[in-house]
Order: sequence, then structure tokens, then C-alpha cells
Amino acid sequence: MSSLSADWVLPVDGPPIAGGHVTWEDGRITEVGPGRAARHLDDAVILPGLVNAHSHLEYAVYGGFGDGLPFARWILVHMERKARIGPVEMEAIARLGAAECLASGVTTVGDCSFTGAAGPACAALGLRAIVYLEVFSHDGVGLERFEASRARVDGASVTLGISPHAPYTCDLDLYREAFALGLPVATHLNESRDELDWLADGTGPWAALAHAMPRPLGRSGIRALAEQGLLRKGLVAAHCVVVDDEEIELLAENEVAVAHCPRSNALLGCGIAPVAELRAAGVPVALGTDSPASAPSFDLFEELRAAVYFARARERRPDALTAEDALRLATIGGARALGLEAEIGSLTPGKRADLTALSLAGSPYHPVEDPAAAVVFGGSPSRVLETVVDGVTRYRQGEDEWPEVRSTASAARARLLTP
Ligand SMILES: [Zn+2]
Repeated sequence: MSSLSADWVLPVDGPPIAGGHVTWEDGRITEVGPGRAARHLDDAVILPGLVNAHSHLEYAVYGGFGDGLPFARWILVHMERKARIGPVEMEAIARLGAAECLASGVTTVGDCSFTGAAGPACAALGLRAIVYLEVFSHDGVGLERFEASRARVDGASVTLGISPHAPYTCDLDLYREAFALGLPVATHLNESRDELDWLADGTGPWAALAHAMPRPLGRSGIRALAEQGLLRKGLVAAHCVVVDDEEIELLAENEVAVAHCPRSNALLGCGIAPVAELRAAGVPVALGTDSPASAPSFDLFEELRAAVYFARARERRPDALTAEDALRLATIGGARALGLEAEIGSLTPGKRADLTALSLAGSPYHPVEDPAAAVVFGGSPSRVLETVVDGVTRYRQGEDEWPEVRSTASAARARLLTP
């Protein structure tokens, strides 16, 4: 049996507990309530392990590649550089991604993985993951890529899923085949105006990439999938930035979850997803960092703040997304999106012991008035004291912190940068 207490415990499924503790045994939470444990963290908050619902761990060192370029040139930079490394480097990079998630208080990721490298990486570091293997139609192998890599995704903390990449790289039959596997499914939908122009009639800046894409669909990805009965409960759709009211309704009535990635959408110039409208319509919304290929980091605290800034700026009202709402997106919202809400996402007896301890010492939010606001506005990876997955401490500040993982990933980045 293990127990940890702190000045505050934020169960998320109930009110904050001042001076609370969490106890767990055999990987499951047995007790959450007031009272001090033998191990107490001063000036800290214990919260459910954060859920990063959309990541690409194998792009952990792709920071800054093609920054500021239009999409067609941006993607070429990425493809050209990616061809310089092999599976060993890919896995080293994914391990760094998993390490950075744990160091950011993340205990679960929904990761879309091109090579499957995220599977062994998450298994090695003990990060809980659904690894959605990416498939494409344009490479001519469709599900063969999935079959070739699926054995790599194995391990106690890892679940296999599949990700038809997007309606502009996958034909609808590939989506149908993916659903037929009965696995968790993720995809990218309605990310940008340029994407929608291409899908509508093959026009716009993406016409230059026509060789890599099946064909325009005459409609948006959301509408095309809906018409074919391929918008289904359990599907996790990243982005959904450019959506109209009818598309929001289609997502809501089909119970498709949206992984909101505000920093990625901003930096690629795609826009701001209508999070308040999506939530008001009943769409399950989660939070994702995407990867350093588009956003600067796997820092989910930065993502939380970006979600709040952009929602309030877009709606021009301060209650468009409260700190408490945002924290729900990154905990129980993420769990629900990934279909794991019975197991994770809140500090609830019976659920898996996934938790994060965050120090607020010396922050502008200490002494703590509102713990959710303190976590969302004051949190950062440098304040994460400990990350526990399934009852096992997978990260503790000041200990080890994976020097070898960092050096091998850095060597892989050097290769990516060398023509
Ligand atoms: Zn993505």
C-alpha cells in the first residue's frame, strides 16, 4: 500500500480537498480524502495524471522544422528530413517524447505513430498509451503498414489502435477497414481552410500536393465520413478547427471526441477551434499537444493555458473556458475521449492509480486560493514533483531523468539536421 498527501488534492470528480491524501494498492486507488500521509508534499497539489489525447511522440525532436513555411513546403521539409533516420533513431526520439510527457505530469497519451516506435517507447518508460498506428492510402500499402507494425505495439501500459491519417491522405474505404478491426480509431479532421478547399474541389494551395492525396471528396472530411456512416462513437478527431454548426452537430450526434490542439493550430496558422461551441453542443473535448513538429513541446501545462487564452479571445468573454473546465479537458475529458473514463481521469477509488504531484511553492498562485487555477496558470514541467502510473512512480524530480534517453534523441536530431 502507498499513500501520498499534499496541501491540496484535486480529485476532479469532486470538490478540492484541503490537506488531503491519496492511497493506492496494487495499482488501484483505494482512498481519497482529508488527512496527512507518512509522505507529505508541502506547497503542492495532487491531481489526476494528465491525459494528452493527441500526440506524435516520434517527432519529439522535430522542433522548428519548417517553422513559418506554408503547409506544402513545411511538409516537404519534414518528409525530406525524416528520410535521413531509421527505426532505431525513431524509437530513441519516441522515448524522449514519452519521457517529456511523464515529466510534464502526463500519465496517458493517445499517440498517432507513423512507424509504431511509440509502442516500445511507452512500454519502456511505463507511460500509459493508446498507440494508433498511422495508415495512408497514398503510399499504396493501406492496412499492410498496420499489419507490419502492429506487433511492435505491445506491453502492459500500451494498447493498440489505428489511425487513418486524414480524409485527404486516406480514401474512405481505408477508414471502413480501420473500423472493421474493432480497435480504437483516431484521425485528423477539418484542420485548416486550405485542407477544406482541397477536399471540396482540389483547389487552393494544396493543389501542389495533389500527387500525395487520393482525390477531392466534394465536401469536408467530417461531412464525407458522416455520409458514409464513418463518424462513429469512440473516434478521436484531432483539431476540428474549421467547422460549421452542422459539422459540430454531426460530431455531437455521433459522439466523436475532439482532441483540441490549440498551440499546433495557432503555429501552423490554422486558426482557433470553437471549443466553447463544441462543448456546448455536447461534443466530448480533450486536449492534445500534437508534437514539436508543429507545437513547441509536449508541455501540457502550456497547452492548458493556450486553450484558455484562445477560447476566451475567440469568444470575447472570460468564462468561455474556466481553469476548472480546462483541467477537465486534460483529465477526465481526455479519459472519456480515449474510452478510458472507467479506469483513469479522476482520483476516484477503484480507478487506476495515475496521479501527478505539482509544487506551487514560490509561484504567484501560492498560497493557493483556487487549486484548479493554480494548476492551470501556475503549472509547468519544472514544478512536477512526481508522476505515478498504475501505482508506480515513473518520474520523480531530481532523480535520473533519463540522461541516456536525452543524449540518443539529441544525436538523432543531429542526423535529421544533416543533409
Ligand atoms: Zn496530429
